[in-house]
Amino acid sequence: MNKKGILIVICGPSGVGKGTICKKFLTKNTDIKLSISATTRSPRAGEEHGVSYYFLDAQKFEDMIEKDEFLEYARVYDNGYGTPKKAVFENLEKGEDVLLEIDIQGAMQVKEKYPDGVFIFILPPSLEELKNRIVKRGSETEESFKKRFGSAFSEISKIENFDYYLVNNDLDKAVGQLESIIMAEKNRVSRYKDCILKKFEEEL
Ligand code: 5GP
Repeated sequence: MNKKGILIVICGPSGVGKGTICKKFLTKNTDIKLSISATTRSPRAGEEHGVSYYFLDAQKFEDMIEKDEFLEYARVYDNGYGTPKKAVFENLEKGEDVLLEIDIQGAMQVKEKYPDGVFIFILPPSLEELKNRIVKRGSETEESFKKRFGSAFSEISKIENFDYYLVNNDLDKAVGQLESIIMAEKNRVSRYKDCILKKFEEEL
């Protein structure tokens, strides 16, 4: 069966631990490709160009918008972030699953353009815990912290647009739930009915 890959979209408020969940999930599921986003923000300690993000200047980012090279893009906390579309579609066509870890504005754009995606929202155990995690990360200025924490509830209030949610209380449990979601999606009849029928028709 020549199956297309699944586009997995992971979203959730800043500091909720999306990055940690995705990293562990991808380490255990090496066949799933992570889409590397472009951003105009500066690299944090330990972040590498082409691995964490493609770190671009504002002009190059605008050029990519102009050339329609993004599947989605958004301004998040004063910086541009976008998903380069070429790599995503090449991988999906090859049958590879692709994971996007993006903000809610981007997720909504992807849903509009590619409703076949699986849209997953990660929740913190509580807002208090989210606040502690952002502070603990220690990479934000006071102003950036306020913006990141301030938008958390408005993002959570859009959860109805998602297919699944996870609560990031326990990392292993959250990763296990993510694996179960993807496993179930791989056996969704509506996604693969044409492939299934074709396979059995060929045998008639
Ligand atoms: P950070 O600066 O902490 O790496 O990311 C800030 C926010 O931007 C996070 O919510 C992250 O998920 C989101 N983000 C990262 N890459 C993209 C992208 O390609 N598109 C969009 N829309 N958001 C992104």
